[in-house]
Amino acid sequence: MKHDIEKIYTLTQQELHDYVIDYISQFNEEIISIESFFIISAPKQKAPYLVAHLDTKYDVTPYEVVLVNNKKYEAYDKNGYRCILGADDRNGVWTMLELYEQYHDKLGFIFTWNEEKGCVGARNLVVQYHPFLKENISYYVQIDRRGTKDLAYYSTYDILMNQNFRLKLEDFHPYRVVPGTSTDVKYLSACAKVSSINISAGYHYEHTTSEYCEYEYLLNLPNTVIDLINHLGYKDYPLNY
Ligand SMILES: [Zn+2]
Repeated sequence: MKHDIEKIYTLTQQELHDYVIDYISQFNEEIISIESFFIISAPKQKAPYLVAHLDTKYDVTPYEVVLVNNKKYEAYDKNGYRCILGADDRNGVWTMLELYEQYHDKLGFIFTWNEEKGCVGARNLVVQYHPFLKENISYYVQIDRRGTKDLAYYSTYDILMNQNFRLKLEDFHPYRVVPGTSTDVKYLSACAKVSSINISAGYHYEHTTSEYCEYEYLLNLPNTVIDLINHLGYKDYPLNY
């Protein structure tokens, strides 16, 4: 583990933004950062892009994070009561940071602000970087789905889904392809007219004080994401417009 997940759970959105910028700036990739909206790290060529969001629901910052029986993370506030852990979506951000050193020249990385407030960062990204998204992105993998078994797609784009992309996803065991409700790639995908999928990030009961994270699943998540990318390949999956 290169990055301390327990520390990442306790950072505010602003602090996590600064942490990400500090870390990725030491590598040579082109970095676009518009504070309050998004960070993009772009390799030189067209590529698959990973996406996660920097904020947590209600901007809750845990006072203490506990690893229970080496199995799951839970969070507590100052008074010793359970609180939101923020594994939604700190698990996604942590996974991308773990992969960054090895993959920054092969994959794109997008960290968004304020997904929980209505995908504010992603929607601004779409407005400000429309041509960039169209030219540079083969497909998106967001790391922001609850549980440990899902590959979620966004129902609005059901009929537009690239069939080869769908077949590949259905063949990625033991995951199941399910409809999701909303997240950043819903907007990003429509803008670039490319396929996207949102993979389980290992948390349960997000947005509640019962939120917890499956530790073992999280530890394997960087490898799982790379397995998924290798399975899909470094090629384009346009939507069927
Ligand atoms: Zn989320």
